[in-house]
Amino acid sequence: MSVDTVSLTGWGRTAPSTALRFRPRSYEEAAATVRGCGPRGSIARGLGRAHGDAAQNAGGSVLDMTALNRIRTIDAGAGIVVCDAGVSLHRLMEVLLPLGWFVPVTPTTRYVTVGGAVGADIHGHNQHVAGSFSRHVQELELLTAGGEIRTVRPGTALFDATAGGLGLTGVILSATLRCHRVTSSWMSVDTERAVDLDDLLERLVAGDHRYRYSAAWIDLHTRGRATGRSVLTRGEHVPRYALPARARRTPLSFRPGPIPAAPALVPEALLGSAPAALLGELRYRGAPKYRIGELQRIAAFFHPLDGLPHRHRVHGRAGSVRYQFAVGHGQEETLRRIVHRIARRRLPATNAVLKRFGAGGPGWLSFPVPGWSLALGLPAALPGLAGFLDSLDEEVAAAGGRVCLAKDSRLRPELLAAMYPRLADFRSLRAGLDPDGAFRSDLSRRLSL
Ligand SMILES: Cc1cc2nc3c(=O)[nH]c(=O)nc-3n(C[C@H](O)[C@H](O)[C@H](O)COP(=O)(O)OP(=O)(O)OC[C@H]3O[C@@H](n4cnc5c(N)ncnc54)[C@H](O)[C@@H]3O)c2cc1C
Repeated sequence: MSVDTVSLTGWGRTAPSTALRFRPRSYEEAAATVRGCGPRGSIARGLGRAHGDAAQNAGGSVLDMTALNRIRTIDAGAGIVVCDAGVSLHRLMEVLLPLGWFVPVTPTTRYVTVGGAVGADIHGHNQHVAGSFSRHVQELELLTAGGEIRTVRPGTALFDATAGGLGLTGVILSATLRCHRVTSSWMSVDTERAVDLDDLLERLVAGDHRYRYSAAWIDLHTRGRATGRSVLTRGEHVPRYALPARARRTPLSFRPGPIPAAPALVPEALLGSAPAALLGELRYRGAPKYRIGELQRIAAFFHPLDGLPHRHRVHGRAGSVRYQFAVGHGQEETLRRIVHRIARRRLPATNAVLKRFGAGGPGWLSFPVPGWSLALGLPAALPGLAGFLDSLDEEVAAAGGRVCLAKDSRLRPELLAAMYPRLADFRSLRAGLDPDGAFRSDLSRRLSL
């Protein structure tokens, strides 16, 4: 097992902290690390795609799980896969797609591990029909604080605390997943423009049930009547028989191509609100008003930016904050107010995505609730950002909503209980399971999880 002392950050590159990083190559090595973790505890880490500090542990140890990356068994008839927690969704796609199966839920990057997908109970563009990742987990092997391995199944308190539990109930060693049947690696994609936020919400309500995948890019730079104008993209897997003759020859191939590298650091002058507004204008005008049935490869549809190196550096040296909140159905007024506030403030928001969520999962700290979710990226160095986002948090909490903890880097702890009603259950399960605090992270200390 390799061991080194490293400075780690999340994907947003804010708040680095130093930890002893262990890279176990077997379950025994992982167990030995947990048993000997010392007073600052340890936390599992996958590919470090959580935006904030969920996979950091200042002064303690971090278990880098990426060397535990075996796919153990695949039932190619039933689409059941058993794999180590350090396997990436990218690797699963490479292996499963040729067999006619697709991961049940994917975020907008495929470079996340199965352990990270369960630990954050990730959601994808199919959340409204398929729920989040843990709904598709049949079983987990969990390394708990005493160094023993427990089999954890849905329907138990330990499962509900672990799904979305940010690594704080233990280290997930392996997972048994149910996958989604596909007969090609192509998507049929419908695109339409919405002229403002109300138009977008109406289109999502009226049409989402017809699609497995749905998400809207929303232009947060326009004010007045066009506030919230957006490009709505929805898709379905294409059955093999519906492919054009050429694509039918290799219907299940998966070969995502590279795209040209972005500069390692974008000049600060390009990070302001004017360039962001211009990009928004180009993106909106460049999208088709209405187009149906466009064929796209899986990687292009779900992960268009994955081939772009340094993409997380586009917000400059100080890094970025990803702000994602959800509010329930009936709370559209809160969503409208927040969108208008962001637009009025002329924030250089990037990659703003609005989704309509369906039923949430069982995870006590899982993010999705039925309703609306908006995510956006902002440069961390923006003057006044902390106070502004604090005030958005208050609006979200007052509306019974919540922010996404896997992306968070700055939430104030006093709002947490209002956002996550099962927080007390989570804390009390942790107190019983891990009385000495073997599992800790910068996030768990910041929010007293
Ligand atoms: C470009 C980009 C797009 C994204 N899009 C989405 C999206 O659409 N939907 C969404 O839900 N999320 C999204 N995310 C967030 C990302 O999916 C989650 O943060 C995910 O947890 C990252 O997985 P990871 O393997 O990198 O885990 P890490 O970032 O390393 O860790 C995340 C959390 O999982 C825990 N964890 C990791 N491995 C284990 C393990 N083996 N056992 C127990 N706990 C573990 C960690 O302790 C930590 O709390 C996106 C992130 C990026 C960078």
